[in-house]
Amino acid sequence: MIWLDFSMFLVLFGLFFYVFASSSVTVLHRIYLLLHIVFMIWPLFQFASQTTSSTMYRLFYLSISYIGLSLIGVGWFVFIVFLTGQSYVIRKSRLFLLSTPALVSVVAVAINPNGMFLTINDRLDPLKQLQHGPLYWIMIAQLLVYMAVSVIIMVYKLSKDESARQRTLIKTAMNGMFVLFLFSIGDLVINVLFIDYFTRYIPLISVGMALAAVYLVHAIGRNKVFDIIQTVQRDVMNTMSLGILVLDENDTVIEVNKVIKPIIRLRIGDTFNPSFIASQFKEETAREFAAFFEVQRKRPLDRLEFELTVDFDRYRHIIVQSAPILNQKKIPVGRVLTFQDVTELRLLVEETNSQNEQLQDRNRDLLIMQDELFQANKKLEQMAITDGLTGCFNRRYLLHQLEQEVVTNIRYGIPFSIFLFDLDYFKSINDKYGHLVGDEVLCSTVEAVRRTLRHTDILARYGGEEFTVYLPHTNREQADIIAEMVMESVEQNKVYTGIGDHALSVTISMGVISIEHFEPSDVSDPKAFLRELLAQADAALYEAKYDGRNRIVKRKLA
Ligand code: GH3
Ligand code: MG
Ligand code: MG
Repeated sequence: MIWLDFSMFLVLFGLFFYVFASSSVTVLHRIYLLLHIVFMIWPLFQFASQTTSSTMYRLFYLSISYIGLSLIGVGWFVFIVFLTGQSYVIRKSRLFLLSTPALVSVVAVAINPNGMFLTINDRLDPLKQLQHGPLYWIMIAQLLVYMAVSVIIMVYKLSKDESARQRTLIKTAMNGMFVLFLFSIGDLVINVLFIDYFTRYIPLISVGMALAAVYLVHAIGRNKVFDIIQTVQRDVMNTMSLGILVLDENDTVIEVNKVIKPIIRLRIGDTFNPSFIASQFKEETAREFAAFFEVQRKRPLDRLEFELTVDFDRYRHIIVQSAPILNQKKIPVGRVLTFQDVTELRLLVEETNSQNEQLQDRNRDLLIMQDELFQANKKLEQMAITDGLTGCFNRRYLLHQLEQEVVTNIRYGIPFSIFLFDLDYFKSINDKYGHLVGDEVLCSTVEAVRRTLRHTDILARYGGEEFTVYLPHTNREQADIIAEMVMESVEQNKVYTGIGDHALSVTISMGVISIEHFEPSDVSDPKAFLRELLAQADAALYEAKYDGRNRIVKRKLA
C-alpha cells in the first residue's frame, strides 16, 4: 500500500503539469494549482513516512502531510468561490479572516503541543502506532466547516438561474467533492477509528484526492472558455470610455471599471450606498444624485437616466443610466449603472449652436444685401429705359416696345397711332433764359402732355426737344381728339422762369399718324415698317413746322 500513496502522488503530479501546460493561466487556474499542490502534499509525505523506520522522521513527514490536509478545506473553499464567479467576496482583508481556522490548524500540527495532535507509539503494532489527539479532531472539524460552506455556496448557486454551462461546472465540482468526502470518511473509518480491525493501511484519502483532482481539472477545463470571455470582457470594460458599475441584488459592487474611479471611489465587494456617495459631491449635485437613486429604489424595474454635473478640475457633464439585470424569470438580480461623460459632446453642440447663430446672422445680412441689390437693379433697369432729364421713357425703350407692339397690332388688325412733336422756337428760349430754364420748360411740357395722355400711352423723348407718343388701340378719330387735347394742355401750361413773375408758355408742332388698315406684307419686316411709319410722322411734323408751327398735321399711311 505504500506504493499506492506514491502512485496517487504521481497521478496528481501529472495532472499538475497537464493543467499548467494546457491552459492559459487565469486567476481560477492559479487558485486551482495552489489547491492541487496542497493535494499533492498528502500522498507524497504519507509515502515518505512509510519509507523510514525512524520515529522522528516519520513524525516529521506525517506532520507535513497533515499540514497539507489542514489546508485542503480553505483551498477548496476559495476555489469554489472563484469557480462560481463570486470572487468579489474575497477581498484581501477578508481572506486572512476566512483562512484563520485553517492557519490555526497548521500551527497546531506544526507545534503539536504535548503530542495533542499526533503521537507515535513505536511499542505498539506498526499499524496502530499513530495516536490522534484532540487537535486532530479540531482540524477535521475545520475541514468539515469549509466543505460545508463550499457545499452551501454551490447549492445556492445551483438554486439560482445560472446558465447551463455554469450548472454543469458546479455539478462537476460537487461530484469531485462528494468523491473526496466519501474517500476521506472511508479513510477516517478504516485507518483511524477502526484500525484495530484491519491488518493493512489503506490510503483512501490519496485515492480520493486524485479522483477529486480529476473532477476539478475537468471542471476548470470547461470553465476555460468562460474565463477567457471574462478576461476579454474585463479588457473591453477597462478600455471603453463608458463607466460601468454592476451591482448584485444586495447593492454589492460585483464589477466596476477604471472609468468610474475619478467619479466614484468604489471597489469590488464594496456596498453601493447612494447617500454616502452623494455626500462626496457639492450640494446641488448631491441632492440630484440622492434624488435619482431614491426614484430608482422605488422603481427597481425601470431604466432611468439623469445628468450629473460634477465639478472636478473643470465642469463635467455625465449621463448616469441605471438599468435592472433580470434573470430568465424577469426577476431583478442586480443593476447596471453606466456613466457617460458627455462634456465634449455638450461643448460641440454649444459650439455648433453658436456657429449656427453666426450663420443665421450672416444669412440675414446676405438677404438684406440681396434685397438692396434687387432694388439697385430695379433702379438701373428703370434708368436704362428712362430719360434722365424729363423722367419719361427714352428713345431706345420706345423703339424696342414699338417693334413688338406693331407686330401684334398688324397680326390682329388692332389700330394704333403715333404722335411726333417738337417744341416751337425752343432755341430762342435757351438763348433768352439760359439752358436751365430751357430744361425746366422741357420737363414742365412733358408733365403737361403726360397729364393729358392715358395710362397705356407711351411718351418718350425722341431726341433734343422732340418727343414721340405711342397710342395703342387708338384709331384716327380718337387720336385726333387726344392730339388736340395735348396741344391745348401744352399751350395752357405756364412755366415760371424765376425772373420776377414772368411765366413762359410754349407751343408745339405735331405730326400724327394713325394706322387702321394693314397689309399682310407689313408683318414680314416690322423694322422697315416702323422706320417708314416714323419717317411719315417726321414728314408730317416737318409739314406742321413749315405751315407755321403750333399745329397738327395728320397723315394716313400711304
Ligand atoms: P423750331 O420751332 O424750328 O423747332 O425752332 P427751334 O428753336 O426749336 O429749333 P430746333 O428744334 O432746331 O432747336 C432745338 C434746340 O433745342 C437746339 C438745342 O440747343 C436745344 N436743346 C436740345 N436739347 C436740349 C436740352 O436738353 N435742354 C435745353 N435747354 N436745350 C436743348
Ligand atoms: Mg424745336
Ligand atoms: Mg427740334
